[in-house]
Amino acid sequence: MNDKLALFGGNPIIKNNFKRFNTIDEREVEAVTKVLKSGVLSGFIGAAGEAFLGGPEVQLFEKKAQEYFNVNHAISVNSWTSGLITAVGSIGIEPGDEIITSPWTMSATAISILHWNAIPIFADIDEKTYNINPKEVEKLITKKTKAILSVDIFGQSADTETLMKIAEEYDLKVISDTAQAPGALKKNKFTGTDVDIGGFSLNYHKHIHSGEGGILVTNDDVLANKMRMIRNHAEAVVSHDSKDEELVNMVGYNFRMGEIEAAIASVQLDKLEDNIRSRQRAANQLSDGLKSLNGLSTPFVTEDASHAYYVYAFQVDSNLTGVSKNRIYDALKSEGIPALLNKYQNIHLLPIFQKKVAYGRSHFPWSLDKEHDVNYSKGICPIAEKMQDENMLGIGMCMYEFDEKEVELIIKAFRKVWKNLNRLKQ
Ligand SMILES: *Cc1c(COP(=O)(O)O)cnc(C)c1O
Repeated sequence: MNDKLALFGGNPIIKNNFKRFNTIDEREVEAVTKVLKSGVLSGFIGAAGEAFLGGPEVQLFEKKAQEYFNVNHAISVNSWTSGLITAVGSIGIEPGDEIITSPWTMSATAISILHWNAIPIFADIDEKTYNINPKEVEKLITKKTKAILSVDIFGQSADTETLMKIAEEYDLKVISDTAQAPGALKKNKFTGTDVDIGGFSLNYHKHIHSGEGGILVTNDDVLANKMRMIRNHAEAVVSHDSKDEELVNMVGYNFRMGEIEAAIASVQLDKLEDNIRSRQRAANQLSDGLKSLNGLSTPFVTEDASHAYYVYAFQVDSNLTGVSKNRIYDALKSEGIPALLNKYQNIHLLPIFQKKVAYGRSHFPWSLDKEHDVNYSKGICPIAEKMQDENMLGIGMCMYEFDEKEVELIIKAFRKVWKNLNRLKQ
């Protein structure tokens, strides 16, 4: 009786809510209190001068991040979406230029390209890492391609080494959306630091957070200066008399981080390593417990890399289980497994790309190219589509604590479902 699946009315394995993954403690309270007592909640001024670069907490956090990630420049912003827009804006693109990116990401990656009237071109992903496949990227390069916007999805680096080689050959820039993989390593370097521009999200759902926030990292002095400009209203406020030919795309925003967020982010940065280690511990325990299940593949970790496990993505093969992934998802969910995902993204299939309606109804910026119609049809990214429709399932790893006992229960729930695969076929 005990074995009856919760999906069919049996008792679920997990009955109580798991503990939240809460990374905030007294240290943040103290840091915030200090800022509040100072009365200065933002040090930025949108005019030339020292205050163009932000207040003491912002500058302290940037210095800390610069040292931590071992880069020449760390630039804070008020969200990573703002960070992506800032990064794309800094590389000097013309309206109608193309940027190759991943369909398997959060929408902000692709939309940041549209913000500069450039056109996202989607390259299919690698089946094991879910990151863009450099071979597919290379096939899509045209005269209009200006950059590759790669994503380190779920917590591990894309093949940035190969992407950088391709970029060198075709004179492109590489930007990494490393929102989900801060602190993950690739050949002993932090993800996001082995490309032209990388950066991390500090929103509540990520490994470390300041409520909302983001941090850009680069070793390039010119790009860094442009990004600091875009963050704070740009040349409209600081260099109207500049003769610098490089100053293109210098439409500025207010993407500035406040002092409270910066103070929190500084404390959070000290916790990044431990937070990642705790996610890795939980993921390794899960993989040990699940690897023997027929038709299930545990996450693949690239050689010479570490995985930050923002999402524990696993695959099911219905040829071996005899059951569709959605059926397995329903059964696992009914057993009470929290933060379970049965899909991720196929960004090219979103209405904005299907209809090519972004700004007004004139199909701008796609309408800039009169000869060639960008194809976003189903079928252009077969691996990403197949992962979505047939194979990929995941567990969000930054929502709950996932201590050893909790992970043990999750494994128990999986085993119960796998024991009952035959019943699920009906
Ligand atoms: C979270 C996330 C973003 C957006 O970051 P925000 O700080 O929420 O703006 C962008 N890309 C990816 C891959 C993300 O996971």
